[in-house]
Amino acid sequence: MGKKDERFRETLKEEVSEAENVPTNPSEVPTAAEAVDTAQEALQKGLEAMPEEGQKRKRKKMPLASQIFIAMILAIIAGLLLQPHAAFADNYIHPFGTIFLNLIKFIIAPIVLFSIMAGVLSLSDIKKVGIIGGTTIIYYLFTTAFATTIGLIFANIFKPFFPLLSTSGLSYEVTESTSVMDTIVNIFPSNFLTPITQSNMLQVIVMALIIGFAIILLGKKGEPAVKAINLCNDIFMKCMDMILKLSPIGVFCLLCPVIADNGPAIIGSFAIVLLTAYIAYIVHMGVIYSTTVRTLGHMSPLKFFKGMMPAMMFAFSSASSVGTLPLNMDCCEKMGASKEVASFVLPLGATINMDGTAIYQGVCTIFIAACYGITLTPQQMVTIVLTATLASIGTAGVPGAGPIMLAMVLQSVGLPVEGIALVYGIDRIFDMGRTTVNITGDASCTMIVSYLQKRREKKSAARMANV
Ligand code: ASP
Repeated sequence: MGKKDERFRETLKEEVSEAENVPTNPSEVPTAAEAVDTAQEALQKGLEAMPEEGQKRKRKKMPLASQIFIAMILAIIAGLLLQPHAAFADNYIHPFGTIFLNLIKFIIAPIVLFSIMAGVLSLSDIKKVGIIGGTTIIYYLFTTAFATTIGLIFANIFKPFFPLLSTSGLSYEVTESTSVMDTIVNIFPSNFLTPITQSNMLQVIVMALIIGFAIILLGKKGEPAVKAINLCNDIFMKCMDMILKLSPIGVFCLLCPVIADNGPAIIGSFAIVLLTAYIAYIVHMGVIYSTTVRTLGHMSPLKFFKGMMPAMMFAFSSASSVGTLPLNMDCCEKMGASKEVASFVLPLGATINMDGTAIYQGVCTIFIAACYGITLTPQQMVTIVLTATLASIGTAGVPGAGPIMLAMVLQSVGLPVEGIALVYGIDRIFDMGRTTVNITGDASCTMIVSYLQKRREKKSAARMANV
């Protein structure tokens, strides 16, 4: 008997046994409704089994991180191809990147305002806000001081290989330079609307804290306000979600002109300075964040960096910590950070925490000093660490903010501010790396503070249970 006959006999046997199983007792005969359910179930199973349908179900949307990554690769290829037509890239591709950044900037002030207010309200305890805020600020200050030190160490190691560029005829206009006292005074808004219209994030944060505290103190009376603020927060988060869907296009349009303008040629003479900064960026992330995330946040560094990939790639392309804020929030929440901590710690970090920028200050100060033939003393290096740490508080995370801080650092050790002109041409390339470090630092703090907060809550719950 052939295989075909055997299969036929098997099928026949199955059919006969099914026919024998047909219920003869009326109580076992299914009702019409049961029959319809069974038929629907069978139909569903059939659809799932159909190869094409099954595939359609499986075909998931490509994750945003992969889309951004592909956009970056395409931007580099297109940028290199467009090098002879850099003006085209500047005039016709870059504007779409600007539109994208404008949309992000438009959403930033309300996001920071409502997310910090919602964060404070969900913590619902001024003391708790104080503890989280205090831990955050201490972490930010320490890691920034470490970052400047790492920048200085690597710059001193690589100094013998730095090109000694001519400093004659250099000029750089100091656009904004604020003293430490000015920075402190400028934190407090003197008007209700200007912090929002001028996107002054520190002032927006102070506004959010004052209003949030007031609502908490109102108690029951403030409940409608809590609902309204949470709703506003949800609305702006949804807006952000919509805008972020455009990020692969935004990333392409922002990165392509940078590559077309600069190309490999400009990097040439600065390669070693850039390399020093990038090594320091990587070492800072790999050593400091890995250690803090593991020891203080009890999280695997690998999991942390993997989870941060979309935000890191976005920061690299956009060179804006504030612009990366929504995506950073998303990444941290997906890695398990609590929403209330993320919505408080990240906006604060995007404004006051800039480890990458601090590394850049260290490297560039040594490079500029070398070009002027000046060797910095250990005391001057300590001054650089202190000034760079404080300077990072006063400058918002937008593209090109670094040189403003660099001016303050150079002035603090008596170096000529015009020296900035030496590195200004390639600032964007420094900026992409330093922004990536900046936002990763904010996220590491979020994961740690979130872990500590959860542990604190568990402990106090256990204590209550024992009472
Ligand atoms: N672009 C950086 C940021 O957004 C600031 C800087 O220029 O260093 O974090």
